[in-house]
Amino acid sequence: MPTGLNNISLAFHLNKTEGTPFAGGQSKLGWMKTFQIISFQDDLIINPISMMDGDSFFSAGYASTYDTCVNRVSQMGSWLVGDPTMSKFFKGYLLKQVAPLLGIRESYRLVADEILTQQDCLTTNLISSCDPDATDFIALSDHAFDICGQQFDPQVTEVYGVPFGCLVPSAGPNNLLVACRGAGFDHVAASSCRLQKVMIQLGTAAAHGAYLAAQKGIAVRELVGEEVAAAMDMATMIRYYQALGAGTTNRAVALAAPQGAEADHF
Ligand SMILES: Cc1cc2nc3c(=O)[nH]c(=O)nc-3n(C[C@H](O)[C@H](O)[C@H](O)COP(=O)(O)OP(=O)(O)OC[C@H]3O[C@@H](n4cnc5c(N)ncnc54)[C@H](O)[C@@H]3O)c2cc1C
Repeated sequence: MPTGLNNISLAFHLNKTEGTPFAGGQSKLGWMKTFQIISFQDDLIINPISMMDGDSFFSAGYASTYDTCVNRVSQMGSWLVGDPTMSKFFKGYLLKQVAPLLGIRESYRLVADEILTQQDCLTTNLISSCDPDATDFIALSDHAFDICGQQFDPQVTEVYGVPFGCLVPSAGPNNLLVACRGAGFDHVAASSCRLQKVMIQLGTAAAHGAYLAAQKGIAVRELVGEEVAAAMDMATMIRYYQALGAGTTNRAVALAAPQGAEADHF
């Protein structure tokens, strides 16, 4: 199992008319692996996917990491505008804004009643082999294991479920559900589960759980996961993916779009 917490990014914002120029002329740096661009109107948002590993961030601390990343934004921008290949796309762009907060992909995680493991994502929790009417899955996920830059074999190939117990602290408060990337996932499972589409489902499950517990006059810890899944009508969603052949949701997109769709790294 790979070690080392997932990577840190400091996103930045480019614009052709507003902002400060980069020095230019910087060659590609060793720390730089890949990056993602989001464009809207005249702006580009750059997500430098692997700016620093998470362990280095935790040993250096937030303020020092932020300073290092700001420096790396300058280096990266100077490469984008100055490199002969990259400048075809980025020449003339100015630094409009650096994100005020670091993008932290992995930090504290809950010791939960159930910890979703790498193996669960690969085999145990596959929805292809689950009974839709008797499940405690409150979220479905299919994204690749994605600890920036690391190769995984085997990789996630099917839709898997996240049980309700992943939100329930194994000790401490009785009436708390943890619905975020810090829920009960192991290091590798977290790298697949942390995407927003799963976080949205965890939040929905927590809301249903709170409502059910209030109705019954019990603490959320006493809820049965299957009841929460039933309240969310997870059976319909699971049947939908089972009918698609239990492929990944990316595969579902590919079925709809003949040119295909590839898994992204975030
Ligand atoms: C650079 C980067 C790019 C990513 N790109 C993608 C992508 O393209 N697609 C995707 O699906 N996922 C992406 N992810 C992953 C995804 O965004 C996160 O894993 C996910 O947002 C985590 O959800 P969360 O609810 O745990 O935390 P967050 O989304 O960070 O939400 C936590 C919220 O709590 C607020 N908060 C914190 N402290 C307090 C407080 N004391 N009081 C009140 N509010 C507080 C914060 O302001 C924040 O709004 C990316 C992650 C990073 C770092």
